[in-house]
Amino acid sequence: PEAGLHVSSVMDTQCPFCSVQCKMTVSAGTETLAGIIRTVYKAEGKANAASQGRLCIKGMNAHQHATHAERLVQPLIRKEGKLVPVKWEEALDTIASSFSTLLSTQGPDAIGIYGGGSLSNETAYLLGKFARVAVGTRYIDYNGRFCMSAAASAGSKVFGVDRGLTCRLADIPLARCIVLAGTNIAECQPTLMPYFHQAKENGAFVIVIDPRVTPTAAAADLHLQIKPGMDAVLANAMLKVIMDEGFANEEFIRKRTNGYDQLLTHLKGVDLNESAALCGIEVEMIRQAAHAFGSVETGIVFTARGVEQQTDGHMAVRAFLNLVLATGKIGREGCGYGAITGQGNGQGGREHGQKADQLPGYRSIEDEEDRAYVASVWGVKPSSLPGKGVSAYEMMELVHQREIQALFVMGSNPVVSNPNVRLVEEALKKLNLLVVADMFLTETARMADVVLPVTSYLENTGTMTNLEGRVLLREAARSAPGEARDDWNILCQVAAKLNKGSYFSYRDAEHIFEELRLASRGGPADYYGITYDRLRREEGVYWPCPSTDRAGMDTMFRETFAHSDQKAVFTVVESCGAGEEISEEYPLILTNGRVLAHYLTGAQTRRSPSLAAREIENYVEIHPRTARRWHIRDGEWVEIASQRGSFTVRSRIKPHIREDTLFVPMHWGGIQNVNRATRPDLDPFCRMPGFKTAAVRIRPLHLA
Ligand code: SF4
Repeated sequence: PEAGLHVSSVMDTQCPFCSVQCKMTVSAGTETLAGIIRTVYKAEGKANAASQGRLCIKGMNAHQHATHAERLVQPLIRKEGKLVPVKWEEALDTIASSFSTLLSTQGPDAIGIYGGGSLSNETAYLLGKFARVAVGTRYIDYNGRFCMSAAASAGSKVFGVDRGLTCRLADIPLARCIVLAGTNIAECQPTLMPYFHQAKENGAFVIVIDPRVTPTAAAADLHLQIKPGMDAVLANAMLKVIMDEGFANEEFIRKRTNGYDQLLTHLKGVDLNESAALCGIEVEMIRQAAHAFGSVETGIVFTARGVEQQTDGHMAVRAFLNLVLATGKIGREGCGYGAITGQGNGQGGREHGQKADQLPGYRSIEDEEDRAYVASVWGVKPSSLPGKGVSAYEMMELVHQREIQALFVMGSNPVVSNPNVRLVEEALKKLNLLVVADMFLTETARMADVVLPVTSYLENTGTMTNLEGRVLLREAARSAPGEARDDWNILCQVAAKLNKGSYFSYRDAEHIFEELRLASRGGPADYYGITYDRLRREEGVYWPCPSTDRAGMDTMFRETFAHSDQKAVFTVVESCGAGEEISEEYPLILTNGRVLAHYLTGAQTRRSPSLAAREIENYVEIHPRTARRWHIRDGEWVEIASQRGSFTVRSRIKPHIREDTLFVPMHWGGIQNVNRATRPDLDPFCRMPGFKTAAVRIRPLHLA
């Protein structure tokens, strides 16, 4: 055969992983090497306003999981203990029969629906409708609860509406000071880094708040290597310096905010030395950070999971929002706040109804007007819509208590991503029926009674909303393998089997989006002005966008906030830390996070040979002095245990981490799953578990 690469198809698509949603082109073809012909794929970044043509290593290799031999291509049903291939009809009948029995004997709340933040807007929307209309259950929530629910609820309380980024990514280079709190962009959203490099070239001062010297922290001008769980304490201390040194923007505060006087009274009681001691950093560094942010005209504060995955995550974010409001750095160029969402559709996935308390367009399931409006779009009676459910982990508790007896999981791997995994495993074993729709036999799918094969990012069409609130269209670029079906199609099929097909008769994803537009119309996240035609013509459209002849809103809150009095709200944040109490038995703090090569529970990236080769197994990052103290050698297997459970990983001794802290990535299941030890304690406002601060002990297995 002739040597060289022969391209047979070129697919325009979008990376399925993080919240930047980089546009790209995947070329498929054959290559001849030494007379052997093999299929090859090549991914390249495609020009786009958000990602600017860049791709990171995850995007470059995403096709490896989509084309993987382990892709599920047929439905599976458990028979005599084993999952065996069956026809779709049998799989759908099994689900419908089990659901119908539960509906008639136990009522709809015996069925739970569990979604994911990587699902398209159309699927997330339809999953919410499926729960409320096809099943009638109040129990629906999703893995985004573990992602940015703290930032979302904080943004809603403070500004009146939650859009991840209140400004454009293009504002980053215009900011003179940038605070990156609990976010490791260089590994989690790598294609955003050039925005920050550009800002630095323009003279910006970049502050990173993180217990580890991450690649992001290494690039900062100031790194506050904070003790996990102390973010709210630090933000309060910075705010006190800002106020004391006269950096407050009095005019902005007077005209555009409420609650300032109470905040001032509270700050009088904040002691900087005490705060610095709690945070485990020098007081001078707090002053320097506050001075850097307070003294400049423009600035942006970003938070991510480091701040948010805490039992005080909601309030910790509000403490950072106080900094933004106090200095008037919002609603104009080079200013704003951003929650760096983690999941591919972390923003859109939280807007259209797969949350326990939510209807499409960020409407509330507890608001009578919202219920009436959405019911009218769906053609049902408002009184038929169930009420508010519970958060994702609380659903697992209800499964454990046998209150929920059937669970339908779509686009999520809860047995890896929930805290306190032992309880989750026990719970799932108790179910009458566990249905998992996924591309692979994930850790959760392996426990299922019915497994449904779904299409990948290369094969399905839908919209995703990136971290800046920009809605982007991703169109199917190749046909589905085997009998894999689109998620939305599966929901329609099950609904039809439950005799609710008339509410779920859609031609395609665009048809669902047309209904979503209408359901979101007039709501806080208004998509009414966004159409597929527009998305094909334009490089994405920001929400809110109430009209097809108007641009979406790139910069939020220029003149007004979304509360009825148009003002934002300061928050009195009382905090002395959110960590789990350490003890003689559990003397170290365990925190978790991501690595460059992997995404979420690793269900996709661990199946990409190029990505798996970079990080093949889980590890713990431990400080050299801590390692010596616990007799741990570099590269050996260790056991880490909390009062909830233990896991086993390899040690990686590094001076990059605080001596009192261990860091373990979150991408592995089984005995390497960090969530065997994490905390199920929930934030009282947003029900986010305290993932980032478990009290643990460590021991080398060579001494076992
Ligand atoms: Fe872009 Fe994120 Fe995908 Fe990397 S993982 S290519 S940054 S969307």
